[in-house]
Amino acid sequence: MINCYKLHEKNNILYFSISKFENYPNIIHAFSSKRTGISKLPFEALNLGYCQKDSNENVEINRKLFLNALSLSNYKLITPIQTHSDIFYEISNNSTTNNIKADALYTTETGLILSIQTADCLPVILYDHKNQLIGIAHIGWKGLLNQLIIKMIKSLCEKYSIKPKNLIIGIGPAIQQCCYQIKEDVLELFKKEFPFTEDCVKYENSKIYFDLLHMLLLQLWEIRASKNNVFWIKLCTYCNKKYFFSYRREGPTGRLMTVICKIK
Ligand SMILES: [Zn+2]
Repeated sequence: MINCYKLHEKNNILYFSISKFENYPNIIHAFSSKRTGISKLPFEALNLGYCQKDSNENVEINRKLFLNALSLSNYKLITPIQTHSDIFYEISNNSTTNNIKADALYTTETGLILSIQTADCLPVILYDHKNQLIGIAHIGWKGLLNQLIIKMIKSLCEKYSIKPKNLIIGIGPAIQQCCYQIKEDVLELFKKEFPFTEDCVKYENSKIYFDLLHMLLLQLWEIRASKNNVFWIKLCTYCNKKYFFSYRREGPTGRLMTVICKIK
């Protein structure tokens, strides 16, 4: 479902949310924008990811500003080391939460802020009301090709006896087809895996434009996620310079953060 989101401003921090998730008062989630923290160009403000071009102090202050705006300051922020893998990981209050190499996380426990960082890739959150389970994923083209979110959903469905159609799934701002060019070799990899690949491709002036979001949705429909329970924010990170960092637009740049947390 498209156009189901809100833009919030709190303490001068701007972030997006998906309305459906706000029906559950024990869940807090947000897709950050780049406005307005303390980092300087090229990070232009609310950079939430450690990198060589920005100081760790800036990132720490920005993360505090972001979590404060969400009233999440008292909870534990989990930031996995993302490697464009198909690895997902269950987090609990007892697990070691440093140096987790994963591109998706889930938990049934309260007080843990699951997070991922993006600058064009698809940020995905999910919620299962029955088991009080939350999840998060960072998905670029490799994650889509390796079906990260599908693998995690299948595993959760088996472990908790969930049906995919009952999961609430939210997809945040990412680079859209208008700005996402791929090469023939990447297209061929998708064609080998997915018969519906051509539905995600537009050819223009001998260039190939790929629709990451549509590919994700088609994968979700294939495992029978419900069209009534999947919500997406169709805003292009490349086009909307005012709100988003974009690796494709800027090269080395800041990172947006997506978070989801159970507070009770
Ligand atoms: Zn665009």
